[in-house]
This record gives sequence, C-alpha cells and structure tokens, in this order.
Amino acid sequence: MANGSRVVIIGTGFVGSSYAYALLNQGLVEELVLLDLNKEKAEGDAMDLNHGMPFGAPMKIWAGTYDDCKEADIVVITAGANQGPGETRLDLIEKNAAIFKKIVGDVMASGFDGIFIVATNPVDILSYATWKFSGLPMERVIGSGTILDTARFRFLLGQYFNVDSRNVHAYIMGEHGDTELPVWSHADIGGKPILSLLDDKAKSEADLDEIFINVRDAAYHIIERKGATYYAIAMGLVRLTEAIFRNENSILTVSTLLNGQYGLDDIYIGVPAFVNRQGIREVLELNLHEKEREKLHHSASVLKEAMEPLKGM
Ligand code: NAD
Repeated sequence: MANGSRVVIIGTGFVGSSYAYALLNQGLVEELVLLDLNKEKAEGDAMDLNHGMPFGAPMKIWAGTYDDCKEADIVVITAGANQGPGETRLDLIEKNAAIFKKIVGDVMASGFDGIFIVATNPVDILSYATWKFSGLPMERVIGSGTILDTARFRFLLGQYFNVDSRNVHAYIMGEHGDTELPVWSHADIGGKPILSLLDDKAKSEADLDEIFINVRDAAYHIIERKGATYYAIAMGLVRLTEAIFRNENSILTVSTLLNGQYGLDDIYIGVPAFVNRQGIREVLELNLHEKEREKLHHSASVLKEAMEPLKGM
C-alpha cells in the first residue's frame, strides 16, 4: 500500500464535494484529488477549497486524473446517477453498475493498491460490484452501508430520550434502503437497554417504531424538500476515513462481504464491523433476536434478487 495520506474522490457532486469540504476542515489527509466526468466542476471545487486553506490545515488539493489513483491510500466513489423523487435506491442499479465497471477499471489500471470506499447507491450492490470488478481482497472494499442510517437512528433516539446522541449505542443493519432494520435487542443508552427505558409511562414502543420509520424514510423526506442528501453522509465518510487512517479498530455499520456471518454468504450488506488501517478487520456478529435475524435475511434476499442484472457484467 502507498505511504502518506492521499484520498481521491471520484464524483464531486453534492456528496463528493461535501465530503471534500468536511475533510479539509478535519485536516486528516495530506493530499486530496478531485475527479469528475464534469472536469470543470472538479476544477472549480479544487479552487474553491484551496482558497479556504489559510483558515484550515495545510494540504494539497487538485483536480486530477485516474493516474493519481496509483499513489492513493483511499479512493472514495461518490459518482453516478442520483436518486430522483420517488425513485428507490434499487432503481439506480443498472445505471450505476455500468458507470462503476468503467470507473473501477480505470482506477485499477493506474496501479492502485489501496482501499475503496463506496457511497453511490444502491451502495450494497455497488460495493459488491467494486469488489468483483477490482479483484482486491474484500477487506479493502468498504461500502458506507448503514453508517448514515445508524447516525440518523442515534440522533433521533438522542432527541427522544434527551441525551447526547454519542451516548446512544444502537445499530441499523441490512440494506441501506427500504428493507433495513433496527437492532433493538442491542440498543442501549449509557449501558441501559433502550427497551428497558420504556418503563417510563411517557415513552412507548409505538414511538420507537415511529423513530425507526423516520430513519428508514429520511432520504425520501429530505429529497422531497431539497433534492438530495449530502452533509450527514459526508461526515459519515470522514468518520470512516478517520477510522482507517488512525488505525482505530472502530465499530461502524458498513457494507462488507459476509462469508457465513449471520448465516449469509456472498453478499455485501450493512453490519457492524471493526475498521482499521487494513480496512475491515472483522465483522461483529451479534446474537440477534429471531425476528431481527428474519428481517436481515429478508433484506439480504431483496438485495440478492436486485443483484441479478450484475451477473453478466
Ligand atoms: P450528484 O449528481 O450531485 O453527483 C454525482 C457526480 O458524479 C456528478 O458530479 C457527476 O458528474 C459525477 N459522475 C457521473 N458519472 C461519472 C463518471 N463516470 N466518472 C466520474 N464522475 C461521474 O449526486 P450526489 O447527490 O452527490 O449523490 C451521489 C451518489 O451518492 C448517489 O448515488 C446518491 O444516491 C448517493 N448517496 C449515498 C448516500 C449513502 O448513505 N451511501 C447518501 C446520500 C447520497
């Protein structure tokens, strides 16, 4: 793997450019390369971000080419068609799989030997495609998975119980999309199981169900209002980048390849996993309740079916 810390972003649209901006503010990397089909957009972003340098930490930012991937530690793919109003993430599959075949091929042709992070939707399927197209070991192809859904979940639970969302430990697992599930059996606040906090009569299970529905449908609600979602996912991608560069062994709900864990095989899906400088160290296998396990398997079967068009690629 290359030394130093270079990140290449492919696709500097709403998500890619927000991630670039968040990275600049964190001072986490030495070099940031921006790449987009629309070269002028990448150039404009590089200029704009560079002008913020005196207010942040020194780093090198430029609009580059696929050759710049050779020395990259991490290539983050946020390119592709976006979810339109009423369109599910799965609707995007064929459009974006074709785009990915070309992008991943061009990255690998540069001699890239680092870690891919994939955020484009449908993210579980495109992470699997990136793993296949790249030929890299699975631990070095990471999808953003349910990192954002888990953050939304922790935020809303934090609001409901009036506690700092960083003290809420709760996961959303499964597809980053309509079949995702909340893992109530392992959700706690400060060590107290969330379900035990319902003894307080002002709180109810129905409220918790509503919180999950708001998490699951959050993208639709935001897209209806402003056309796209990007700030929170950008921060989630920075968090993932940080866990890698700082070799943190942090537990994050990412999309990763399962090989028997949770009784699932040959699929990328959102699960809690330890992330460090090697990428995915290992999947955290929770002892799910029967109903949660069924929901996870249902989510996996929906993804497997949606992946059919990839087979001939
Ligand atoms: P956008 O349309 O603003 O940006 C996409 C960019 O990709 C554009 O600038 C476009 O020019 C570029 N692009 C398209 N094809 C390309 C190619 N072949 N090579 C290089 N660049 C190319 O979209 P956005 O709002 O930034 O969303 C990007 C993706 O992120 C979408 O798929 C969206 O659904 C996804 N997303 C994921 C999450 C998540 O939690 N994983 C959250 C929000 C959005």
